[in-house]
Amino acid sequence: MTIVPTIKLFETDAHIRELETTIVDQSDAGVCLEKTIFYAESGGQPGDVGELVLDGGVPLRVVNTQYIPGRLRIAHVLATPPDRSLIGAKVLARIDWERRYRLMRLHTSLHLMCSLVDAPVTGCAIYPDYARLDFDIEGPLDRQLLTDRLNALIGKDLPVEIQYRSADEMSAMPSLVRTVQAAPPQTGNQLRLVSIGDIDRQPCGGTHVRSTGEIVSLAVTSVEKKGRHNRRVKIALTALTGRSTETAG
Ligand SMILES: [Zn+2]
Repeated sequence: MTIVPTIKLFETDAHIRELETTIVDQSDAGVCLEKTIFYAESGGQPGDVGELVLDGGVPLRVVNTQYIPGRLRIAHVLATPPDRSLIGAKVLARIDWERRYRLMRLHTSLHLMCSLVDAPVTGCAIYPDYARLDFDIEGPLDRQLLTDRLNALIGKDLPVEIQYRSADEMSAMPSLVRTVQAAPPQTGNQLRLVSIGDIDRQPCGGTHVRSTGEIVSLAVTSVEKKGRHNRRVKIALTALTGRSTETAG
């Protein structure tokens, strides 16, 4: 049997909040959709939560989104497994946008931090309330200086753009790869590159804002020493709401 990959709309437009689509498979792991706007956990960014609303208005609560091994398809993990087959059912898929938008603002902020700290990144995690990067660096990092420089880049409202490059084109520019990626963001033989103005460009499969002004403001909340060569830097958003432009589903 040929496995039809899930169409990942979050890769092409991270600002879609809801979408009409069809359930194409169902298992203990959850349900698969023909196309999805739910980001599947990867690269330090958690899977989306939200709901799938069936014809007739019955909502199914999605508590997590995960790749099925092989990464071709995406499982939407339901709070309550359905007691009947839903294959073929039309649904309105709706993500918890408030949570996802915080993740997008924090995720993009980590890219900005990579552009400011000249050291290899050895760890990355993003949560709805904060995000962190681990740097392989010996010297200290100034929390206030880093906060000021990050907010200056946010204030410049730099464009965030997605490009696709082949592995050959990538090997011609190895200096771009800063992060230690758990799973390379590869679609076919194309690598997904995220660039922010002319200050940062790196392979990434996550969801980002369209321009840094959407982040509004943030603060470095701590710099912890986690061993002689490791500094863990945590950031949090200091503006409750971001400056988003909505995309219709
Ligand atoms: Zn990213």
